[in-house]
Amino acid sequence: MLALELYRSVPRYVAARALGERIPGLLAGPIAPLRLVNREEPVVPGEGWGRVKPRLSGICGSDLATLSGRASFYFSPLVSMPFVPGHEVVGELYDELDGLPAGTRVVLEPVLSCAARGLEPCGSCAAGATGRCDRVTVGHVAAGLQTGYCADTGGGWGGMFVAHRSQVHPVPDRMTDSRAVLVEPLACAIHAVLRARPEPGASVLVVGAGTVGMLALLALREFTAAGPVVVVAKHPRQRELAMQVGATEVTGPRDAVTALRRSTHAYRLSPARGLPYLLGGVDVALDCVGSKASLELALRTTRSGGRVVLAGMPAAGADLSPVWFRELEVAGAYAAGTELTGDGPASTFDLAMDLAAEAPLEGMVGAVYPLARWREALDHAFAAGRLGTVKVAFDPRKD
Ligand SMILES: [Zn+2]
Repeated sequence: MLALELYRSVPRYVAARALGERIPGLLAGPIAPLRLVNREEPVVPGEGWGRVKPRLSGICGSDLATLSGRASFYFSPLVSMPFVPGHEVVGELYDELDGLPAGTRVVLEPVLSCAARGLEPCGSCAAGATGRCDRVTVGHVAAGLQTGYCADTGGGWGGMFVAHRSQVHPVPDRMTDSRAVLVEPLACAIHAVLRARPEPGASVLVVGAGTVGMLALLALREFTAAGPVVVVAKHPRQRELAMQVGATEVTGPRDAVTALRRSTHAYRLSPARGLPYLLGGVDVALDCVGSKASLELALRTTRSGGRVVLAGMPAAGADLSPVWFRELEVAGAYAAGTELTGDGPASTFDLAMDLAAEAPLEGMVGAVYPLARWREALDHAFAAGRLGTVKVAFDPRKD
């Protein structure tokens, strides 16, 4: 089968890290540690596993961070090389799988937790918090926090991958593939918003208006009674879309501190070096970018005792002074699992599947590429915000 494969290349990784931020177009060029290969189909590793043929696979910010060398070395023992990326997937079952007939369209819940690994559930898995699984490096398949980072499973950027029954969710017939491929990022956004848990009427800041920011905004309006939501968006198309999806106000990154000072009636201070900050500010902030600048903006504009949620893979190096001085609560939001709702515990993916059926997601998958055009696809994904595209995806069935 044809697949894109990420291989270990320390020189390329270091080069990408050194140059990637400054030379656009380079990342998908000759130094990207990715290649299109003809590779053996992954082998079903045990009971409860089956093969899935991807129909659409999204390109995620964490994929781009991995490819550009921005991901922390922290993650290196949590992956096994070489792997086929792709964890935002809608596909169809190639084999019958535990009562689901071959041909069933499914979305992938990518975390490779205890159930998939053939292990007795760890404490987190037993509680339904599969994203917090402690055993993502052992069991039936090689190390890999998720499908799309594991050498044994294949991933969505290839012609076939294997998934455990616990990882697949059937898609309703009426849902299009371009909606279904957003179920995984939507589940992550819902999880982030429920980790942020704004009180009714609370003021919220969403930093970033890419896929994560936009879906977090949708989830805020669907699952919380948050009050005013200010969205920080870099590009004109993102600003329009954020207003349509439920933002109260949209601001650019440069004007954000001033806009938030005004909307929250805070005091604005300018330190001798670095970004200005607020005394006062929003009740809750979600960093949906994962850069040093985005996290610092969130930390510097959240009121004392407020909550800051890291919804994207974070960059290193943010100044934590406001966490201490403002007694902020900083919370991570990784993947999905089980949420406590008014009706009791619910799978985040079930919530996401329901929301994906109703939400205004038309046009969010703005471009679809065959695997062979991967350089173009990645260039497009790196520049998506500027080009007015929310999500770029591969269709591995296409030539
Ligand atoms: Zn576990």
